[in-house]
Amino acid sequence: MNILIFGPNGSGKGTQGAIIKEKFNLPHIESGAIFRKNIGEGTELGKKAKEYIDRGDLVPDDITIPMILNRLKEDDCKNGWILDGFPRNKVQAETLAKALKDEGINLDYVIEIVLPRDVAKLRITGRRLCVNDPNHPNHIAFDAIKPVEKDGKLVCRVCGGDLKTRADDQDDAAIDKRHDIYYDDKTGTMAAVNYFKQLDGPKVISVDGRPSIKEVTEAIMKELK
Ligand code: AMP
Repeated sequence: MNILIFGPNGSGKGTQGAIIKEKFNLPHIESGAIFRKNIGEGTELGKKAKEYIDRGDLVPDDITIPMILNRLKEDDCKNGWILDGFPRNKVQAETLAKALKDEGINLDYVIEIVLPRDVAKLRITGRRLCVNDPNHPNHIAFDAIKPVEKDGKLVCRVCGGDLKTRADDQDDAAIDKRHDIYYDDKTGTMAAVNYFKQLDGPKVISVDGRPSIKEVTEAIMKELK
């Protein structure tokens, strides 16, 4: 099963992606997490990507597109994948659709988590990142994924690891820039979503991102067969 998942920063897209990954045993490929891993390890790719990410800009397509297409060729992707954070603009969408077609790979589902921009922004400011695993969701404003307190400080609710804020989460201008890109339906991410919506083939699942994590999961799972 091959799945794309879309949603603005703050929509719970990463959380839902992790749940789908568990349920269907799929590799969860997150472009943002791949970049952060490279930055953490100080790789060449990480060095190139960092300045864009810190500003809230997209990393250029000539770095991002090959990185993701190569990732999809790895062994663990043979039986399906869930791709999260890519495509992020229309060019990436068209390039991905063409690459899949050339390889004879079907796209089965396009999941879209719909959330108003002001709600998405509020949610981002409380998000905390586990230093051990970017797939451990923590948020100070949501009971279900609230970090736990240990020795007077907040730690990851999943593994007890230290928490940090994402550099690009805390900067107001960077948040706005990332949302500008997401909600842009001319060339940005909404243009990518709309591109996949008009394609013949993938089933589009649009869910309201405002209810609880559990309710959003149920709305998605009802449609994923
Ligand atoms: P995310 O964790 O998905 O919010 O991604 C964090 C940052 O990584 C984004 O703000 C971009 O700077 C960069 N990034 C992630 N995915 C892409 C992509 N598909 N194209 C370009 N830049 C990306």
